[in-house]
Amino acid sequence: MFFHGTARVNGQSHLEIGGMDTVELAKQFGTPVYVYDVALIRERARGFRQTFEELGVKSQVAYASKAFSSIAMIQLAEEEGLSLDVVSGGELYTALAAEFPVERIHFHGNNKSREELEMALHYGVGCIVVDNFDELELLKSVCENKNTKTKILLRVTPGIEAHTHDYILTGQEDSKFGFDLQNGQAEAALKQAISTPWLETLGIHCHIGSQIFETTGFILAAEKIFEKLSIWKKELAYEPAVLNLGGGFGIRYTDEDAPIAASKYVEEIISEVKKLAGSYQMEMPEIWIEPGRSLVGDAGTTLYKTGSRKDVPNVRHYLAVDGGMSDNIRPALYQAKYEAVLANRPLEKAEETVSIAGKCCESGDMLIWDLPLPKAEREDLLAVFCTGAYGYSMANNYNRIPRPPVVFVENGEARLVVKRESFEDLIRLDLPLQEKIKN
Ligand SMILES: *Cc1c(COP(=O)(O)O)cnc(C)c1O
Repeated sequence: MFFHGTARVNGQSHLEIGGMDTVELAKQFGTPVYVYDVALIRERARGFRQTFEELGVKSQVAYASKAFSSIAMIQLAEEEGLSLDVVSGGELYTALAAEFPVERIHFHGNNKSREELEMALHYGVGCIVVDNFDELELLKSVCENKNTKTKILLRVTPGIEAHTHDYILTGQEDSKFGFDLQNGQAEAALKQAISTPWLETLGIHCHIGSQIFETTGFILAAEKIFEKLSIWKKELAYEPAVLNLGGGFGIRYTDEDAPIAASKYVEEIISEVKKLAGSYQMEMPEIWIEPGRSLVGDAGTTLYKTGSRKDVPNVRHYLAVDGGMSDNIRPALYQAKYEAVLANRPLEKAEETVSIAGKCCESGDMLIWDLPLPKAEREDLLAVFCTGAYGYSMANNYNRIPRPPVVFVENGEARLVVKRESFEDLIRLDLPLQEKIKN
């Protein structure tokens, strides 16, 4: 079994995380519960930041908060000196509620509304990542109405898509995001942006994919962008202060995944950008990156209680848990794979292969297929690893299942940072068909 961060087996032969016995955590906070290993989040954040600092390259490491947004998480990002990506008014609101330094907030999204842009300008976010021509127009008009300037990055699609172990070169990028670099849209957008007095165009942004295990895609993207930058320098006298290469750094969910260290991504990105800037005789830009999953993914573990079994003779053992696609939709959404152990007896030898079912009314609500486990009984504790990214943030109330709480553990202490939803919470926004007649 592969343990992440501070996870280990303690003297009681229980799984322990952050110095806390998971059996005790389940008793205290109930199940399901998301448990985050705070020390591991800090280690991941430092892993990205340190290399920039050591190599003396101006940078921002922005946490893509869509991976897991909550007030405590954003405060932790602030403690670790990260910047923050938000993609909606709601994520911005959360960041503001956490009192995150607004100048380090970057606002993303392919369809920001007028209200969202007004909100961003009102609070003075550090930069707005402009995604398309419509938004460019809308932003100009919002700035004009408010008589406010703003900093922007232009999001481009460089014609490279990275997926896990391979990258795809696409001539004409068919994507809902960004200005195409190859067909002239990016250049047209840049011309508009730099001729707009309301907008200060800090630089260029791209994000090539997710769960990437190689540096090749980032390097190719940088090459494609610099080819254009060198032209724009000559023709438009434009040189960017910032090059943002996005996120997507891969993590280990199962032993099929072989992630590389943050330091290696950063080193190779820096050395490539230095080389490119040198060869085109351009100033070295600040490098910004936007890890989401790789900051929080492997720090999160979900604890479930096991329940019903269903044995289909000669076919499969189903073992159901007290959560499912309501707290982790990734397996149902894109066949995501996970590893798990019985947290109350992680050292016991596997005796059978079971498939972990959720409790939602969908046949597709399966969390793990074919997991080797000791013979599990009702009320065993199942720990599913690596649920820290896109778990809670995609959680939902399907079947009116309340969302689980989030607990941060560090140095033998546990802190509840998101409460469990109650049944009352579930009906909080509901209104009756008819007002009761008062008499
Ligand atoms: C989703 C996203 C990220 C983070 O992606 P991860 O795979 O979680 O690292 C970063 N930047 C942008 C623009 C994104 O859309």
